[in-house]
Amino acid sequence: MEAKITLLPGDGIGPEVINEARKVLTAVAHRHRHTFRFAEKLMGGCAIDAIGDPLPEETLDACLQSDAVLLGAVGGPKWSDPTAKVRPEQGLLKLRKSLGVFANIRPVKLFPALADASPLRPERVQNVDIVFVRELTGGIYFGQPQGKEMVDGRRSGHDTMRYNEEEIRRVLQIGVDLARRRRGKVTSVDKANVLASSRVWREVAREVAAENRDIEFEDVLVDAMAMYLVNRPGDFDVVVTGNMFGDILSDEASMISGSLGMLPSAALGAGGPGLYEPIHGSAPDIAGQGIANPLATILSAAMLLRSSLGLEEEAQVVETAVAHILAAGHRTADLARSGEKSVGTTEMGGLVVAALS
Ligand code: NAD
Repeated sequence: MEAKITLLPGDGIGPEVINEARKVLTAVAHRHRHTFRFAEKLMGGCAIDAIGDPLPEETLDACLQSDAVLLGAVGGPKWSDPTAKVRPEQGLLKLRKSLGVFANIRPVKLFPALADASPLRPERVQNVDIVFVRELTGGIYFGQPQGKEMVDGRRSGHDTMRYNEEEIRRVLQIGVDLARRRRGKVTSVDKANVLASSRVWREVAREVAAENRDIEFEDVLVDAMAMYLVNRPGDFDVVVTGNMFGDILSDEASMISGSLGMLPSAALGAGGPGLYEPIHGSAPDIAGQGIANPLATILSAAMLLRSSLGLEEEAQVVETAVAHILAAGHRTADLARSGEKSVGTTEMGGLVVAALS
């Protein structure tokens, strides 16, 4: 097949990890006789420096015209002044909106070889295989009105959390479709005991449950879910929740796997190009040192092969190669135990490429 893939390396370790994912995708294309055309574009802090815009028009156009977009990470101390008019994150929010990607999919699965890297006891984490589906374009991160003002002489701020039934239904439906291909269970997370928007969320979740009786449904309050993820994470299959709850819970769950450097994600919508990115940020503390773990980005590329290009076998080949090199004992610095030898970013990417065959 032929596919156009836009690469957005971004800032910090972004270019380092995207480079390795590109190597892996190129090797997959070669091995399976596909043609992947890559276009690398500016986005984030580097785009602010070059053009004054975190998402230049040329970048957005390239993304909209491609089959899939693979992003490294954006941001860093240079652009994080809270009073700055343009910030790298604005580019990311605009990109998600423009691509219409309303569901963020984050698998949290422990590679058996990394069981001892998890902060939880091995018997708690051995069966963990969760997919988070986080609503991405609504809720409190986008609700209006939002602002800072003086009230009675005091600095105040306010945000609005709003969801309509269509936004809730479509993201729950993505969860149902995923669950049907997995273990058939959906956990819908809300705060219906306090928030009106969550009571609408729960009503719609119950309707979706009634329409999909082959799927086991449960409603869980977000505070309880924060506890369950630590004491019984193996009980969950697909977890669907709103923008802010999903942001926090999926970061909590990510720790189960031992390192941010292992976790991929996809942002999907209604048929346009998907946006794939590791869940970690630009890691300015290690940028330029050649020690970043590229596996989250390589696993994001595997999700791209599966969800945007329909190449299930190729996706599995990449995931199996990653499992294989971890089982063989190769570790980047973030995964290595003290005193254990570690490999750098480029070497890890090379090992994955070698393990593809
Ligand atoms: P971070 O994820 O960049 O780093 C947190 C810690 O994890 C750091 O110690 C870092 O060294 C380590 N780490 C992260 N990825 C790693 C990898 N692949 N290999 C090895 N170690 C890794 O989070 P942060 O420090 O809170 O944020 C840094 C910058 O990234 C900020 O500007 C933030 O806004 C931005 N950020 C961007 C995105 C994105 O682009 N989607 C997401 C989160 C944070």
